[in-house]
Amino acid sequence: MELLKKAIIEKATVDNGVVKVGAFLNHEIDIALYREIGKEFALRFGQLNPTKILTVEASGIGLAVAAAMAMGDIPVVFAKKTKSKNLTGEKYSAKVRSFTKGIDYDVEVEKDRINSRDRIIIIDDFLAKGQAVSGLADIIDEAGATLLGVGIVIEKGWDDGGKLLRARGINLQSLVVIKSADDGKVVFE
Ligand code: 5GP
Repeated sequence: MELLKKAIIEKATVDNGVVKVGAFLNHEIDIALYREIGKEFALRFGQLNPTKILTVEASGIGLAVAAAMAMGDIPVVFAKKTKSKNLTGEKYSAKVRSFTKGIDYDVEVEKDRINSRDRIIIIDDFLAKGQAVSGLADIIDEAGATLLGVGIVIEKGWDDGGKLLRARGINLQSLVVIKSADDGKVVFE
């Protein structure tokens, strides 16, 4: 994904191990780039015939929607991080440690949103230690649904999330893997 690498090189900044992509990915959104990301995920996962995409609020939602539109308008479900009065039914819940905030939080999905016939792709913006994706994968397991794969826009190669998910037998597809980001300079694998 040359367009994605170009955006990272030209617009991302690095601060204490956190790659900041607010200029194009998770604050201001580059729509042309999102469209290409959606198409790339569709190329990698579309033939598996997913019935749903699962992500986590907030940064995953736009990316999941771009991928869902490229895969024939399949539905997107996003796990909620905040206790919402709108989630009134029974819920699946998993505890996740936040990479950027350093706190634990629950991700929740109403039981009615996922069923055992669902074939699901997880989409998220970053993969660091694999906490967010593991929480979503646990929810899919609990629902008895099938996890077809995980699509990540930026994998941070120096964290062990990739290793963790592959060891769990998960089909992980990262659009770019960053090998290092020392002194603010991003190096791709
Ligand atoms: P993990 O759960 O894999 O440790 O971290 C992934 C989650 O933390 C993603 O949902 C993402 O929102 C956030 N995250 C992890 N690393 C970064 C980073 O370098 N930059 C940004 N913007 N978010 C990150």
